[in-house]
Amino acid sequence: VNVKSQVLQECIERVVSLSESQATFYGHRVHYENELSPIYIDMDRDKIVQVLLNIVKNGLEAMKDTGVISIRLMQKDGKTAVIEIADTGEGIPDPELQRIFDPFYTTKENGTGLGLSVCHKTIQDHNGKIEVQSTLKHGTTFRILLPVSQKQA
Ligand code: ADP
Ligand code: MG
Repeated sequence: VNVKSQVLQECIERVVSLSESQATFYGHRVHYENELSPIYIDMDRDKIVQVLLNIVKNGLEAMKDTGVISIRLMQKDGKTAVIEIADTGEGIPDPELQRIFDPFYTTKENGTGLGLSVCHKTIQDHNGKIEVQSTLKHGTTFRILLPVSQKQA
């Protein structure tokens, strides 16, 4: 992988701006407020942007009426960056939760089922973790953990 120490906030800001028109089209909103100083991650920036964009797009597609995607950034013990992407969508039933990262698993008529399997692989390639929590009819939260760069660029 082609990794460089880069600022995570810039990726998230890019994702917010790339998803704005789709959000507006659905009548949804993407909310992100950054309160932290720059967090450096050794990453392939385009790949991390793709991961976050896939998750935001899934969220936009999972919400009826007017929904909100909330993106939160946190730092755990100075060593781990945590990105939470929460939607107010339909949620994922328990038995299906085990399968969403499988290649070709989709519940959409025109879905490929590849988005989350690619996300999972990219995050693993970055020595990170991806987790999901979901409550039916209330929404789904994806949580991505990435190791913070040791030598700050
Ligand atoms: P695709 O979007 O092409 O279906 P993904 O790998 O991105 O493929 O997602 C796989 C499946 O996981 C989706 O079809 C959907 O059933 C479920 N899923 C993913 N994200 C969400 C979400 N935020 N809310 C509800 N279901 C979701
Ligand atoms: Mg998808």
